[in-house]
Amino acid sequence: DIIETFNFSPGPSCLPKEVLLKAQEDTLNWNGSGISVMEMSHRSKEFIEIMQNAENDFRELMEIPEEFEILMLPAGGSMQFSAVPMNLLTKNKKANYLVFGSWGKSAINHAKRYADDITEVVDPDSIGNTIPDFSTWKIDPEAKYFHYCDNETIYGIEINDFPFEELKDQLLVCDMSSNICSRKVDWSKYGLVYAATQKNIGPAGVCMVIIRKDLIEEPMTITPDVASYKKYADAPYRCFNTPCTWSIYVCGLNLAIMKEKGIEAIEEEALLKSGMIYKVIDESDGFYINSIDKKYRSRLNVVFNIKDDKELEAKFVEDAAKNGLISVKGHKSVGGLRASIYNSMPVRGVEKLAEFMKKFQEENQ
Ligand code: PMP
Repeated sequence: DIIETFNFSPGPSCLPKEVLLKAQEDTLNWNGSGISVMEMSHRSKEFIEIMQNAENDFRELMEIPEEFEILMLPAGGSMQFSAVPMNLLTKNKKANYLVFGSWGKSAINHAKRYADDITEVVDPDSIGNTIPDFSTWKIDPEAKYFHYCDNETIYGIEINDFPFEELKDQLLVCDMSSNICSRKVDWSKYGLVYAATQKNIGPAGVCMVIIRKDLIEEPMTITPDVASYKKYADAPYRCFNTPCTWSIYVCGLNLAIMKEKGIEAIEEEALLKSGMIYKVIDESDGFYINSIDKKYRSRLNVVFNIKDDKELEAKFVEDAAKNGLISVKGHKSVGGLRASIYNSMPVRGVEKLAEFMKKFQEENQ
């Protein structure tokens, strides 16, 4: 028997079957062009149409106002850890960084190379299970921007009560790599949002950069052109150099589906799916443990341990895979287990994981 596989990988992650089938169907002959998208010039009218449609669907799905530019940049989320300071800290070289997980930490470490003065909003060495209360935050009111990561993929922490009102005088820059397109965004609160595509949108290689147009200016002189927002924004169709054409095309296939579904439905489903796994954890009498402050539990990355038993965790990974539930191992830096439940994970897959977890507990406690 072939068992259906559900892929809980943190990214690159699962894509809807219909996207994969469409990509397969188009592989040799896209829309009667006689060639594959992989082989198309990025300057051809065919590819420009593909890219434009992807952009339009993303804009519509996320209700991104016209005053924002959408750039589809190379080199994933990590490039933005440097690109953000290189593009924004040209005159005022001060920035605030809120760090409550490893990606935020990576962002601040990169930014330190370009900034004169970085304020660590909370102690980045105390990151772990919660986000310190806003009243304890240290904020430089003179800083050019305030950077944070909305969902910490490795630790499974998502900020669900960001103090927008208290920070209304700050220019907000946010890494939404692991929770973009999973809930509505109030764009009036942000200057720049970036998100790598390989979790909630499509394949790896692209990073969506949504930037308010008035913030696009000449970056630091050391900035490589491929990291300069201005270079892209000024180029025809925002293609300064060869973009990740095939990835953008597959992102476009998925964005069209997400747009049809609508952001409210996606948001509801994200809560439903993660809730199913948290319920199993909370009703397991301490067999499964998730020690994240409940109000900051991630809807996308559910991290957990099995008692304090590394051997049992290894068995869990192995048995889960035999049941078609793959990539449930935690990140190597923290160990344990993690189910990444992005937009393309069907409810059915999560139901199967929940059932498996209950059965595994019965058999191994
Ligand atoms: N930010 C977050 C929140 C992430 O989860 C990741 C990757 N897992 C990154 C940034 C880095 O993205 P990339 O690997 O595309 O550089």
